[in-house]
Amino acid sequence: MKSGIPKGERVVVAVDGPAGAGKGAVCRAAAWHFGLAYLETGALYRAVGLIAARAGLTDPAELARAAAAMPFAYRPLGEGRHGAFLGEEEVSLALRAEAVGQAASRVAALPEVRQALLGFQRRYGAGLNLILDGRDVGSVVWPDADLKIFLTASLEERARRRALELQARGEAVNLAELIASMAERDARDAGRVHAPMEPAFGAVVVDTTAMSMEESCAAVIARIAPVLGRS
Ligand code: C5P
Repeated sequence: MKSGIPKGERVVVAVDGPAGAGKGAVCRAAAWHFGLAYLETGALYRAVGLIAARAGLTDPAELARAAAAMPFAYRPLGEGRHGAFLGEEEVSLALRAEAVGQAASRVAALPEVRQALLGFQRRYGAGLNLILDGRDVGSVVWPDADLKIFLTASLEERARRRALELQARGEAVNLAELIASMAERDARDAGRVHAPMEPAFGAVVVDTTAMSMEESCAAVIARIAPVLGRS
């Protein structure tokens, strides 16, 4: 299956998997290591979830219109850092909230919303070597990606990592509630009819349960190197 947008000569690496598997950290490390453009597609769904929660939107057509029209962009913050913006508002932190992840997962089950976000994902980083992560980037967004990875880990380990991330931001964490919330999101993402979370055809499954973050990054970087002709 082809994505409908010519990939050209560039290399595309698609990384899918559940929340907390380490996709973000691994993709950022690989992007930095190889000089790739990086798109975290979950941020788009989170932005739609945030808009939906703020405006009380539930109608699929309205949500799709909001998704297509939202002024989402990554902008430089200085010192090599980038932030996610909705118009003039920096929403990087707001997007990471657990409740926004849940809202994202609800709007992400709607085919109208998924369709509205497809063009942005396929146009992103045009002409550049690209790594992107999400739930369907290897199956739907870039089915002709040069390398597809399904990054996963046990639910308990993923919840433990997410708890550390939230605690580091000073947020109170109840591990049992976090496990339940992540299990609910996994079930919704994997069980939906449209673009369910699953290893894409031809994907390499990397289980990071027993790996440190450094080991996870090294494992993924080692798989990308030959695809880019690097050792
Ligand atoms: O990756 P992240 O946890 O930020 O994604 C938030 C939610 O957005 C996921 O739980 C999923 O429902 C949705 N999503 C998706 N497809 C993607 C990326 C994210 O459905 N490609």
